[in-house]
Amino acid sequence: MAGRRTQILAIDAGGTMTDTFIIDDKGEFVVGKAQTTPGDESVGLMQSAVDALEFWDMTVEESFPQLLTGVYSGTAMLNRLVSRKGRKVGLIVNKGMEDFHRMGRAIQSYLGYSYSDRLHLNTHRYDAPLVPRTSTRGVTERIDLFGHVVIPLYEHEVEPAVKELVEQGVESIVISLLHSYKNPTHERRVRDIVKETLQKLNKNMPVFASVDYYPVRKETHRTNTAIIEAYAADPSRRTLELVNEKMQAKGSKFDIRVMASHGGTISIRANELARTLVSGPIGGVVGAKYLGEQLEIKNIVCSDIGGTSFDIALITQGDFTIDTSPNIARLVLSLPLVAMDSVGAGTGSFVRVDPYTKSIILGPDSAGYRVGVCYPEGGTDIITVSDCHVVLGLINPNNFLGGQIILDKERAYQAVKQQLADPLGLSVEAASYGVIELLESQLRNYLESLVMGKGYSPTQFSCFSYGGGGPLHTAGYVKGLGFEDVLVPAWAAGFSAFGCGAADFEYRYDMTLDGNVPNGATNEQKEEVAINLQGAWTELSEKVQQEFEKNGFSGDEVQLRLYVSMQYQGQLNDIEIEAPFAEATSAADWDKLTGAFEDTYARVYAKTARSPELGYSVTGAIVRGSVDVPKPKIPEEPYVGKEPAQEAFQGKRRVYWAGEWFQANIWEMESLQAGNVVTGLAVIESPATTFVVPPGFEAVLDTHRIFHLHEMAN
Ligand code: AMP
Ligand code: MG
Repeated sequence: MAGRRTQILAIDAGGTMTDTFIIDDKGEFVVGKAQTTPGDESVGLMQSAVDALEFWDMTVEESFPQLLTGVYSGTAMLNRLVSRKGRKVGLIVNKGMEDFHRMGRAIQSYLGYSYSDRLHLNTHRYDAPLVPRTSTRGVTERIDLFGHVVIPLYEHEVEPAVKELVEQGVESIVISLLHSYKNPTHERRVRDIVKETLQKLNKNMPVFASVDYYPVRKETHRTNTAIIEAYAADPSRRTLELVNEKMQAKGSKFDIRVMASHGGTISIRANELARTLVSGPIGGVVGAKYLGEQLEIKNIVCSDIGGTSFDIALITQGDFTIDTSPNIARLVLSLPLVAMDSVGAGTGSFVRVDPYTKSIILGPDSAGYRVGVCYPEGGTDIITVSDCHVVLGLINPNNFLGGQIILDKERAYQAVKQQLADPLGLSVEAASYGVIELLESQLRNYLESLVMGKGYSPTQFSCFSYGGGGPLHTAGYVKGLGFEDVLVPAWAAGFSAFGCGAADFEYRYDMTLDGNVPNGATNEQKEEVAINLQGAWTELSEKVQQEFEKNGFSGDEVQLRLYVSMQYQGQLNDIEIEAPFAEATSAADWDKLTGAFEDTYARVYAKTARSPELGYSVTGAIVRGSVDVPKPKIPEEPYVGKEPAQEAFQGKRRVYWAGEWFQANIWEMESLQAGNVVTGLAVIESPATTFVVPPGFEAVLDTHRIFHLHEMAN
């Protein structure tokens, strides 16, 4: 369309679909979808962008030169890690500790296990370590937990170790020594000797000292993360550069940013790239936070259903929680990650019948982009939840990705009959409906336990439901929980991409720190801790500034925010506090910090739980730096009325619901207008998502193109 200026492009290349979200200078946006192309993600990306721009009659060549910024989130790095297809890495650790990485703190081999797998040793398995024992070398040195040198570094042991690793053909070397976060001298010395040796050998390869990247406590976590940097992140940088180049070939004039685990976006040139390991689902949570800010909703349950998983997260008092030592892909890591739970049940999950108990088992594996048996050209052998949707009339087989893919209803029907209905002695409809009910009751339980487990009640929260598959099941999984409100944005299918577009350009760097200030401490004691803290902040601020310089942002354009992790002495959990000043120099600054800590503590726990008599411990310093980037606007449309326009009505379709076939009203989502009320049983269809409004429910579209789902009293 002439005159339209596109500004922001955000892409979420998920396991199943690649979603594109494009925003113009007025804040209007379009969502595109295409199937993910794991071989070369840029192919799916371009198709998805073409799909989105079609709504505006624009081409990629017209749009890309106008764009001001672009954010990408993909799964290539995670796939590389999970399928153990990374670089060949050599590891240097303390002599005598060569097996630590392989042992994974013992807990690692249990991560992601179901309850029954934790009990039954015969299903227990150890993943191959990222670096095999044979490519690990030890050097003698020891720094204790206070940072004191207990054994000096045996420098002469480094060179032979490097030579052996090089002979083995390693492509990168990682160094991780005990307590290097407390005193980095030995680790950095080893790093320098490794580099010198490589130079002597005429070998050019990246070298990673853990302290330069993740200067934090817990050596298994730190070592794993530094290894991922070498093993998967650095090689994935090439993938990102390729995406960037393909976009620039179409006229874009910027470097894409990547969604990172801490909830901000970082440049593809960033030092610490491992934190872009999980990005898509984070986008959804960031989007929910952003939307919540605009709508003044502070407590949000985020729920995202895609083809492969159900991801849930909580936003309380307007912010998400950060987990600083999360588990990803069965590895313990030292990355700041937006706290989230992922459950292996999505709309593409396989459905099987347990031959002994005759119970239905969902997932945990899924069909990915191949949808199910209903997929053209054969599809999968095993039926999926999507096959059940098609059989029940919930998904329109001619509207999958707006009709790009025509699903085969008859084949789905026969397969469900054979694999599920006949073995259970049920009709095909009843068996399919049972699958939907089972999925929804599982999701409902997860949601409820997430909220209740944190000591809250659903009545204090609004539930945001999104992902292509979310709106199919929203009613089913919120039923009876009593959420204050249930919101389904019309752009649910591209919501994670929207969140990527709404994210700040922000770096966050963490460092472990130890400082104790007893109750009744002297001013000297307070000042010492304050100055120590400032030292860490200065170092981290410089790291942040250096990152922004790579993208041409200079000093005063960067807004720096200082944080500290603190706890009462002797307590187990710390909380993150933003410093109420720009620089700490005195005992008075320390007092301001404890004041802020007391306030936050009273909000997170309870006023009466405060215990200043215990004194305080500082456990870490954090710096977050951001620069301004364009953000999407939330749509604003005039109120039209309750009655949907006739053109939105698509006729009726047979839909099976709770034991009966109904003639359900079918509506076109894009043609509904502000104020319209759709009562169940109805199906609201969009090119990439399907919103089911069951009997007893109504959906009201507000002026921001967000549906509110109400359960009607009967
Ligand atoms: P996502 O992974 O978030 O892109 O969600 C993909 C899921 O959206 C699919 O597995 C489908 O179950 C669901 N879906 C619902 N309606 C549609 C539609 N019209 N086209 C494609 N996917 C749809
Ligand atoms: Mg998704």
